[in-house]
Amino acid sequence: MVARSFTLAVLCTLLFAGCGGRPESESTADVDSTAWLAPDPDGPPAAWSYEGKTGPAAWADLDTAYAACDGDQQSPVALSDTASTTDQHFNAKYIMEIGEVVNTGYAVQVNTSGGMMIYDGMMYGLQQFHVHTPAEHTVDGTRYPAEVHLVHRAENGGLVILAVFLEEGATDNPALETWITGADTSMTFRPSRLFPAQQSHYTYDGSLTTPPCSETVRWIVMDTPISTSAAQLDTLRAQYKHNARPVQPLGDRQLTYVTP
Ligand SMILES: [Zn+2]
Repeated sequence: MVARSFTLAVLCTLLFAGCGGRPESESTADVDSTAWLAPDPDGPPAAWSYEGKTGPAAWADLDTAYAACDGDQQSPVALSDTASTTDQHFNAKYIMEIGEVVNTGYAVQVNTSGGMMIYDGMMYGLQQFHVHTPAEHTVDGTRYPAEVHLVHRAENGGLVILAVFLEEGATDNPALETWITGADTSMTFRPSRLFPAQQSHYTYDGSLTTPPCSETVRWIVMDTPISTSAAQLDTLRAQYKHNARPVQPLGDRQLTYVTP
């Protein structure tokens, strides 16, 4: 492209003595036309999606900032029976807090500072929660219709994401009211209302399930779903019909099941 621009500029100069094309504007046009090939490292992150040319298989190539998407500690994964079990539970305390409901373009999300979790001796603050349809993790081959992620961050940047599956039941779930519509609004909310009564779960080391796919996440995935209605699932799908990344290889990572 640079060579072609140079050639064009020389031809213009020779043939038309001025030709109207200023070198600045030509070089700007060139940068724009090839921006998707070599993103400016200081520019905004590349656009990505859940299907097509910018879908999950291409994430790592879309932007150097997304290189981790090709890593060997990626999420989600297929969860299944494991020989490794423990009874080491997390300790989450959530207060009633104002949350701001936003539509990120990739999920319906509630930004909040309403709580903290102590996990493995480290304190993590709740930052936001959001929902994927269908679920991203699978359990013994089952894929639930939706999965909520509660994202907690420690001061050192480490993340704990607590995942809760939704399954279809007969009645609306009050814990999902208001925020799943994705409307720009604020609301008071206690995130622990999203937890199932039985809190047995899988844990493993993984990543964000969206670019930049950072491998800084300790996952806690509850295996007991909470119930929601068909109407609430329809409301979710009306926002995002499919915002779930396919399962990634577990590799040699340890999967632990934490008993109730
Ligand atoms: Zn998520």
